[in-house]
Amino acid sequence: MTGQEIAERIETPEPAALVPTGRSNGPRAARIAAILRCPQCRGVLTMSDADVGCAPCQASYRHHGDCFDFAAAALPDTEDASFQQERMHHRSLRGRLYDLGQRVITSEYAPFDHRAAFLAQIEPGATVVELGSGNRRLNDGIINIDLFPFPNVDIAADIEKSPIASNSVDYVILDSVIEHVPNPQAVIDEVLRILKPRGKLFCINPFLFPYHGYPAHYCNFTRDGMQQLLRNFSSAVVEPHYGPTSAVINILSEYVAVSIAGQRRTPYLVIRASMLLVIGWLRFIDRWLIRSPQSYRLAGMICSVAVK
Ligand SMILES: [Zn+2]
Repeated sequence: MTGQEIAERIETPEPAALVPTGRSNGPRAARIAAILRCPQCRGVLTMSDADVGCAPCQASYRHHGDCFDFAAAALPDTEDASFQQERMHHRSLRGRLYDLGQRVITSEYAPFDHRAAFLAQIEPGATVVELGSGNRRLNDGIINIDLFPFPNVDIAADIEKSPIASNSVDYVILDSVIEHVPNPQAVIDEVLRILKPRGKLFCINPFLFPYHGYPAHYCNFTRDGMQQLLRNFSSAVVEPHYGPTSAVINILSEYVAVSIAGQRRTPYLVIRASMLLVIGWLRFIDRWLIRSPQSYRLAGMICSVAVK
């Protein structure tokens, strides 16, 4: 196949060629087969019991269980990474307690549930991809992509160079992900490529929010920063998702915990949780404060909905 033929394939969504034989079937499996392409040349993939192959460029990839693995990424050998593994695979009581504690003892509060509103408008039969999903599946029809093959991940891949056909996806979700990629603009450009014309991106990201590196935390964005990242979409609405009080509580409890506990993980968690138990309820002030036209100046998190 010539370079020009490959380039034509990149531009044109192809009919489904990948037959997921012997795998879980159903609407999601069929949708995955329809959009999956070679991440290197965007050629059509074929599948055998042993691997997934690309005829145009001769690349081959692995699949294990129900997950196509294009990344074959190894987790870093750190205590943080092994704790993350425990949480993602629901392996330990410690991980489960941490997740439960994070939901109850928290500074996080979205006065308006942008995520639920976005999911509610998705029509049945639409192709929806969550990039950087982790082990969570928002609903059964959503195709999950993550760098690591956690439970519930359909496709393990680098989201800067995804194995998805151009102009093939109706909705993309990026929930607290772009701060963890080295090049957010590359990910946003990739979203623009895979979305169909008039397809929509839903993106939540931190603005005034402490460092939370996993595997790394590179950047936070302001309202203007998001509008700049999304400038090639035909429209983008960017709004505060967590308000100013949430941001102040989050940063203050982190400040006290880090100042006193330093590197010691258990004292850090105890102090931070204690702080949040005492002042966390103040976050509900944001129910009113977020309506201020100035709330974007101190927003904890930012939410964007952009149309291709
Ligand atoms: Zn290829």
